[in-house]
Amino acid sequence: MAIIEKEQVTLVEDTYGLKDKVVIVTGSSKGIGATIAKEFAKKGAKVVINYNSSSIAAENVVDEITQAGGTAIACKANVANIEDAKTLIEKTKNEFGRVDILINNAGITRDRTFRKLSQEEWNEVINVNLNSIYHTTSAVINTMLEQKFGRIINISSIVGQAGAFGQTNYSAAKAGMIGFTKSLALETAKSGVTVNAICPGYIETEMTAEIPANIMDQIVAKIPMKRLGKTSEIADACVFLANSEYITGQCLNVNGGVYM
Ligand code: NAP
Repeated sequence: MAIIEKEQVTLVEDTYGLKDKVVIVTGSSKGIGATIAKEFAKKGAKVVINYNSSSIAAENVVDEITQAGGTAIACKANVANIEDAKTLIEKTKNEFGRVDILINNAGITRDRTFRKLSQEEWNEVINVNLNSIYHTTSAVINTMLEQKFGRIINISSIVGQAGAFGQTNYSAAKAGMIGFTKSLALETAKSGVTVNAICPGYIETEMTAEIPANIMDQIVAKIPMKRLGKTSEIADACVFLANSEYITGQCLNVNGGVYM
């Protein structure tokens, strides 16, 4: 007969289990990524702020964290480029000795209806949003498997589940991230490495600020909660997944109920 262990109530200072965990957040100079990085830093993690072109914004995130007593470094790397992605992982290991959590967040849009979409716009979005997760994950996976601990969290999108007008490139990339997540989760489940995706709905960032006001009104009208999401709501979901041992291969929708 199985013995059921009694739960004990123990009060600990490090309630989140993230103290000194090493976290890379791709595309964390602004928007969702910056908020995720700050949230992990607040909980005691050592964070790597990755960016491609926004160096000042990235340094500002680092300053904000270090001035509050946290630990962070900035690392320029175009994650669409495999050599850059390898450098990002190497620099992290050189600085902090390990990598515990990889959050694949970097993303771009190049919206255009399919008949007007150029091959360049297709390739750009696939490279930055989808090929990047191969680049970063392949550079870090052996480290995580050897240390028998790892969390990979892929920031996909509602658009990868439901599609969106003018976003064939973006929805293909985001749907690809979900398939990647489930398959890799199967391969790493036995080794303490979980792989999950988050599908944000429409979140207040520079990316959604580009959507014309009349279209945005229509989008908000269809959201059951009648508002856009906050970057902090995606960061909370990342912290939750980082602390979850028995959740893998899942896609967590954080979308105000707009897609169920
Ligand atoms: P954002 O405000 O435009 O920020 C994008 C971040 O990605 C920036 O830090 C940018 O840094 C970085 N980045 C872009 N290309 C990169 C590259 N090649 N290499 C490294 N970093 C790169 O976007 P966001 O709204 O926060 O979106 C973050 C993620 O959430 C994206 O994957 C997006 O698809 C996804 N998402 C967003 C929403 C939303 O409503 N906002 C909804 C669903 C999913 P640089 O400026 O330095 O390039």
